[in-house]
Amino acid sequence: MSLYDMNIEKAIKAIKKQNAKNVGLQFPEGLKTQGTNIARILEKETDANIIISGDPCFGACDVSDSKMEGLVDLIIHYAHTPLPIKYNVPVLFIESYSKVNIYKSLDEALELIKDYSKIVVATTTQHLNLLNEIKDYLEDNGKEIVLGSSKSTLKGQVLGCNFSSIKNLDAEAYLFLGSGNFHPLGIHLFTKSPVIVADPYSGEARDIGDFADRILRIRFARITKAKEAKKWGILISSKEGQYRFELAKEIKKTLTDEGMEAYLIMIDNITPDALLHYMDLDAFVVTACPRIAIDDSQMYKKPLITPQELEIVLNKREWENYQLDEILFHEKNKY
Ligand code: SF4
Repeated sequence: MSLYDMNIEKAIKAIKKQNAKNVGLQFPEGLKTQGTNIARILEKETDANIIISGDPCFGACDVSDSKMEGLVDLIIHYAHTPLPIKYNVPVLFIESYSKVNIYKSLDEALELIKDYSKIVVATTTQHLNLLNEIKDYLEDNGKEIVLGSSKSTLKGQVLGCNFSSIKNLDAEAYLFLGSGNFHPLGIHLFTKSPVIVADPYSGEARDIGDFADRILRIRFARITKAKEAKKWGILISSKEGQYRFELAKEIKKTLTDEGMEAYLIMIDNITPDALLHYMDLDAFVVTACPRIAIDDSQMYKKPLITPQELEIVLNKREWENYQLDEILFHEKNKY
């Protein structure tokens, strides 16, 4: 049984309503194993041919609408919420809410936030349906809860590249419900406040502080190494939601003004193998998904840094003002 609510009824209803004949089905990596099962049900319950997207997918920035345009009448995209970008094909987003029990991790988190009374709660798409429940539970345990929102995210939602919902809120500490370290790391770096992770999958809670310190040490080392670079690659993604060409051009101009060589390289999926062809370059600036430089840093032979880290390399930003890169989708092509 799936740990996630795949809401197949919603997909069937949309296909029938639109009388769609060919339908694309897209999942993030963790849910791809559901693909054939869901395709079988949809083909049994409707007249549509289902085409599963086998390409990697990590967000709503990467809907396969351009690739499937002309082929399908509808795309069903699982586990993300829509971004304020234009999709070329009608897309039905299904959130895939998690069914995991959250209370053990919340109880553990309460212990770690016992010294704070005013708390911001943030989470990812998979748990957004529980936001009010989480708020009520924490309030019943004596906390004052603040929920933020923004133009590109829903109430209480953070993306791996967008933390606008949690900035400038009045609180003593932050509680992130979900798995992984990247989102709470972002919250910590943008707010400089204590961040507690309640991980419902492990049933545990932890403070992100030590992890954040470790990541900052790694980033400092990458930036130091990048200061030696004379020949740069500026990576642009062809994915609609990660495409920041204007930013890439600005970076190229900045580097050439500093007397360095810089080349624009467009890649759909940025991987260590894809960069092996450019080992004559000393370092790369990533204008695509901000997580590539941070999460996958150990996999790359040459330093991969973000636009904000380049500012530190070029002495245009102080290390003390270190920030993660963000894509503010409503400000097209800028960060
Ligand atoms: S750009 Fe990266 S972090 Fe942002 S939505 Fe896409 S995959 Fe997620």
